Amino acid sequence: MKLYNTLSKQKEEFVPLEEGKVKMYVCGPTVYNFIHIGNARPMIVFDTVRRYFEYKGYDVNYVSNFTDVDDKIIKKANEEGVTSNEISKRYIAECKKDMDGMNIEPATKNPLATEEIGGMIDMIKTLIDKGYAYEKNGTVYYSTRKFKDYGKLSHKNLDDLRSGERSLLVSGEDEKEDPLDFVLWKPKKEGEPSWASPWSDGRPGWHIECSEMSKKYLGEQIDIHAGGEDLVFPHHENEIAQSEAANGVEFAKYWMHNAFLNIDNRKMSKSLGNFRTVREISEQYDLQVLRFFMLSAHYRSPLNFSADLMEASKNGLERIVNAADNLKFLSKNAANEKMTEEEVNIFAQTDVFVKDFERAMEDDFNTADAIAAVFDLVKFANSNTGSESSKEYLGKLFELLVKLTDVLGLIVDKKEDMLDEEIEKLIEERQAARKAKDFARADEIRDELLEKGIILKDTREGVQWKRA
Ligand code: AMP
Ligand code: ZN
Repeated sequence: MKLYNTLSKQKEEFVPLEEGKVKMYVCGPTVYNFIHIGNARPMIVFDTVRRYFEYKGYDVNYVSNFTDVDDKIIKKANEEGVTSNEISKRYIAECKKDMDGMNIEPATKNPLATEEIGGMIDMIKTLIDKGYAYEKNGTVYYSTRKFKDYGKLSHKNLDDLRSGERSLLVSGEDEKEDPLDFVLWKPKKEGEPSWASPWSDGRPGWHIECSEMSKKYLGEQIDIHAGGEDLVFPHHENEIAQSEAANGVEFAKYWMHNAFLNIDNRKMSKSLGNFRTVREISEQYDLQVLRFFMLSAHYRSPLNFSADLMEASKNGLERIVNAADNLKFLSKNAANEKMTEEEVNIFAQTDVFVKDFERAMEDDFNTADAIAAVFDLVKFANSNTGSESSKEYLGKLFELLVKLTDVLGLIVDKKEDMLDEEIEKLIEERQAARKAKDFARADEIRDELLEKGIILKDTREGVQWKRA
């Protein structure tokens, strides 16, 4: 399996540190708002990478943090007159809902920066002891020039470097010994959340958070560290400097970075204000469509968000789901159980689609080509099945389709049956709507249930329901 390593600027063969295992860390969002679809790109991309490793039989330890202490969170908390903790808890919960809708497998661990401060303080102490960091008036800085490999990830020359745009500005910034030095610990300002440390009551810098959380949950050396390409410099470069100086071993073997999701050919970001939240998209589309859209391009190519591409993705996904539905329908009505000799031979031809799919994924996770292989299988299934097909044959085609789409995190086996409690919840909501004279909503719920085959009957005793 080959993947592109930002460190070497080449596609490299993947060799795990420990046989059969993959340890990966993906930088997660700063939680001060609903996530936007740009944030969703690394989530979907690296979840798919994980799923492919799992398909290949690897045991994947997948860690992705939430940055829950940050200037932007504090600002939002002040605007609303609530605590930072309330803001971050709220948006972590909302983010998890979105991730669920996008069918992101839950991480092995989602560490929170605020729960790992002790470990960060220990790491900073180690860096000071080893001569890689120094304190000035309560602020601790990393001595960038002391780390001889600085710049190896972003391929930047130390002397050409300027501090990155995301470097933390703190009071006393001018006390740095070198403009390239960055903050490991900073003293609190009035009204900010803070923790006691040997240097000051304060909080950690952003970069040290990931170095510590990765070490704690995955160990000093990991296989893959990933995130969006804006994180290469300074965030990941600084993480390397911290982790390798503190631990004395290579931090991550492979560094993977997704390209940006753009809108009108400009980067989508919270600061530019041109973003669309995942939640907004979910009002218009099933989030499976968003997932399909993201995977329809290679993760290292910029992707431009547009209504047309979303419609094309919706249609593409529908084609696959329809094929799966068709196989299920035929199977329900199939006359024969066992595969005929001829069917065995026909089914053997699907091997080529599996090979194409795997070849695409093993070439640096080319999901666009992998989707093309799924479409070939869909076409094949549509034209090589009919009312005379056996149950076993249809079942095998269906299973194969589910197996491949599952690697992409696309759900084609829709469980249509609603659970009783889901139905009852909707009925309750409908009653409440009627009480509030919101008849439009009440009718909408009735129609929604009808579409799922649930028939309501209003009686004097209350609402009765049955499945059609
Ligand atoms: P942030 O909350 O800004 O720290 O971002 C969380 C993750 O989303 C990081 O991996 C970013 O690189 C990534 N990200 C942010 N905006 C975009 C975008 N427009 N396209 C792709 N990835 C993005
Ligand atoms: Zn990070």
